Amino acid sequence: MTTDTVSNPDKVEKHNFQAEVSRLLHLMVHSVYSEREIFLRELISNASDACDRLRFEALTLPELIKDDPDFKLTITLDSEAGTLTLSDNGIGMSHDDLVSHLGTIARSGSSAFIEKMTAASKGNKDGQGDKKGDKAEDVKMIGQFGVGFYSVFMVTDNVKVISHKAGTDESWCWQSDGIGEYSLSPATRAGRGTDIIIHIKEDATEFLEEYRIRTIIKTYSDHIALPITLVTTKDGEEKSDKINEGIALWTRPKSEITAEQYTEFYHHVGHATDDPWLTLHYRAEGVIEYAVLMFIPSQPPMDLFDPARKARAKLYVKRIFITDDCEDLIPGYLRFMRGIVDSEDLPLNISREMLQNNPVLTKIRTAVTKKILTELEKKAKKDPEAYAAFWHAFGAVLKEGIYEDFSRRDQLLALTRFETTTADGLQSLDDYVGRMKDDQKNIYYITGDNLAAAKRSPQLEGFRAKGIEVIFLTDSVDDFWLQMVPEYKDKKFQSVTRGVADLEDKKDGADGKDDSSKTTPEIDALIGVLKTSLDGSVKDVRLSSRLTDSAVCLVADDGDMDIHLQHILKQHQQLDQTTPRVLEINADHALIKAIAAAAVKENSVDVLKDTARLLFDQARIMEGEMPEDPVAFAHRLSAIMTSGLT
Ligand code: ADP
Ligand code: MG
Repeated sequence: MTTDTVSNPDKVEKHNFQAEVSRLLHLMVHSVYSEREIFLRELISNASDACDRLRFEALTLPELIKDDPDFKLTITLDSEAGTLTLSDNGIGMSHDDLVSHLGTIARSGSSAFIEKMTAASKGNKDGQGDKKGDKAEDVKMIGQFGVGFYSVFMVTDNVKVISHKAGTDESWCWQSDGIGEYSLSPATRAGRGTDIIIHIKEDATEFLEEYRIRTIIKTYSDHIALPITLVTTKDGEEKSDKINEGIALWTRPKSEITAEQYTEFYHHVGHATDDPWLTLHYRAEGVIEYAVLMFIPSQPPMDLFDPARKARAKLYVKRIFITDDCEDLIPGYLRFMRGIVDSEDLPLNISREMLQNNPVLTKIRTAVTKKILTELEKKAKKDPEAYAAFWHAFGAVLKEGIYEDFSRRDQLLALTRFETTTADGLQSLDDYVGRMKDDQKNIYYITGDNLAAAKRSPQLEGFRAKGIEVIFLTDSVDDFWLQMVPEYKDKKFQSVTRGVADLEDKKDGADGKDDSSKTTPEIDALIGVLKTSLDGSVKDVRLSSRLTDSAVCLVADDGDMDIHLQHILKQHQQLDQTTPRVLEINADHALIKAIAAAAVKENSVDVLKDTARLLFDQARIMEGEMPEDPVAFAHRLSAIMTSGLT
């Protein structure tokens, strides 16, 4: 070992862990998780990242690695001392790096995640059901949240991190038992890099067994572009074995790569724990040259709807990691993709500014996007069931592309799936259009907060009765793309909650504008009474052809904003006042008939004032809204109930 701590007690600083870290560590120390070996995956992954980062820095500052140009990781097993040590010659950490990287959790979203995890484990302690399984799931997700290092506390009661940041001449020793605090003291370490010295705790001695460690390292390092050596001592003799070749997985021929290696690489590159739903590995040769190894996860990562909408694909140039923060590499609507793109054409010393609007990058993005969408098309055709699983996980994200990527609008629309009023399971627009009735011009849809709510909408009644299929669109992005996409394959998108429903049987060229056939003097009188009573609250009152069971419903007028979109905008404080809507009444409904009979009598406006309000509020409630004046509503309802009972 090339390291040793300076044992000067005066210089030891004590630091408390950030509260979230303490909570996480508590979880780790008391972990019931059976796959504790993942700590090694996390540490190997960190060493590999540290080397990647320095390799990148050295592009502009070659002197950083002049003395020691070959990156490597050495893992030493000392069963006598009961320690496992990982030594890398990566970028290393300074005093302040150690404090911020190994004492806090910086990544956004992580803290919220830990809150959730600890809530679940508390539930367990309080005996609220067996949450053991959940807890194991939680721990499994650790890597995804940038808290990977702390997983070491599943197997140790004392860990030392001795680190020397490249380009500095200081070394520091960070030490902790994982309970509440850690210490920092000056140390000596020959050359840059990091040693992680793990004292394996009593119930984890399996991690001192050579065979076990060898197998784990092999599993987690086969795909990594960092050579790893395992050093063991047997009968006083030191033995070192090269465990992997240290060749980047994407540079190897597909035929030589196993499914397990792909999966492990995906876990490493995507901070993921699930299996990839799709693996995309290819090399593009031609005007521009690059390799792609990308994955579509099978489970949505937690930060999928993070407002930043950052894609997390990593950009490499000639095998050197450049950045995982390059917005131009993958469009936001494919941000669920994980993996790498390795370009041969970009300059190695490319700067952040140069990455913006870079023509090579733009070409790569266009080609990769095309490839991904083509793969999705294939999968949708070949295996609709698997595609449905993808759609449930990422459909809402993919749909953002419909309004963001004009050039691929139709392709994305064709990939879209939804449920409908008449068919079982997920349907495509082509399925829908193929089933349209001969005289049907529009693609009918309804948007809503969720499927159950949308299914209950009174506006669907007439469509159901006539057997006209209506599409349910229940993701919040739906209202937005529908605003911008008027049609698909020459068929207009038409909301069933807007405009006049064109549902009457067409005879003699009647275009169904208003349904005069049902108009009686009573109905006319009622419409007049309602218009007067609800003046200011509704835009218009008219007969409905879309209702069969309900007495009334509200619809947006042609050209006005769809009702659900108004709700969404109001929720997000982007709309102060909803525009008045049209109240439609069902002339066949017993209640409407009864009220209509009263409407032709004298003073009917005064007599029916409350009834008009109640009808209107009823329609609002069916839209999931509050009555305009809830107290007045309650009074009116009470009065009517009283008169009915006395
Ligand atoms: P993540 O790797 O997801 O960022 P970790 O908890 O695994 O989260 O590590 C936290 C941080 O600690 C890393 O981002 C890195 O900055 C630093 N770090 C961990 N291990 C090393 C190492 N071997 N060399 C240099 N820095 C490291
Ligand atoms: Mg890590």
